[in-house]
Amino acid sequence: MALVDDLVEKGALKNPNLIRAFRAVDRWDFVPEPMKDFAYVDEPLAIGEGQTISQPWTVAFMLELLSPSPGDNIMEVGYGSGWQTALLAYVGANVYAVERIPKLCEWGKRNVEKCGFRGVKFFCQDGTMGLPDIAKRVGGFDKIIAAASGRELPPAWKNQLKTGGKIIAPIGHSIFEFTKRTKAAFDAFPHHSFAFVPLISDNDSKW
Ligand code: SAH
Repeated sequence: MALVDDLVEKGALKNPNLIRAFRAVDRWDFVPEPMKDFAYVDEPLAIGEGQTISQPWTVAFMLELLSPSPGDNIMEVGYGSGWQTALLAYVGANVYAVERIPKLCEWGKRNVEKCGFRGVKFFCQDGTMGLPDIAKRVGGFDKIIAAASGRELPPAWKNQLKTGGKIIAPIGHSIFEFTKRTKAAFDAFPHHSFAFVPLISDNDSKW
């Protein structure tokens, strides 16, 4: 696939597991009918409901930072088309995927399942509160990734992350890499100049 070769050449994709996943999971399966011709263009594309399937370069960049491993318990907020969900599942992570727009919840889940991934758990709800029951059950998420940008990191995500865990999330126009050092101490490292759809909370507008 020329798109994946291009991402490797540009240095966006380096992790061999991720390169394999990008080759195996076809973005074409995750774009709506009218957009199929553009599936391999390195651009975000409309998926309906005012949302987009993220730009391949951005997905590659965020997944490289996340560095998913087989067996990781990962919460994904804003699964939309399900493309990134399938990439994470291909790597062998246990994916807990959250999306708040009912039509996309259905469509994204169907896209992932059509590709043969059965292990993903889908939740159609506001992801800003995280998934407290799951977090408790798995002893905290190893990693959290978000595809929509808020003004600050929802505290629930911080609480539901394991010590040593990582959150890759956009805040404003930057992608932040948060590492949980201790129960209360986080390192935050920003990467600037990205564009995301807003993270919308059902409860208040803080995030
Ligand atoms: N990874 C997806 C990105 C979709 S765009 C893809 O590449 O297809 C970001 C998504 O985040 C949108 O579908 C939007 O509905 C969703 N979103 C925004 N706020 C959210 C929230 N509070 N909880 C869950 N999903 C949210």
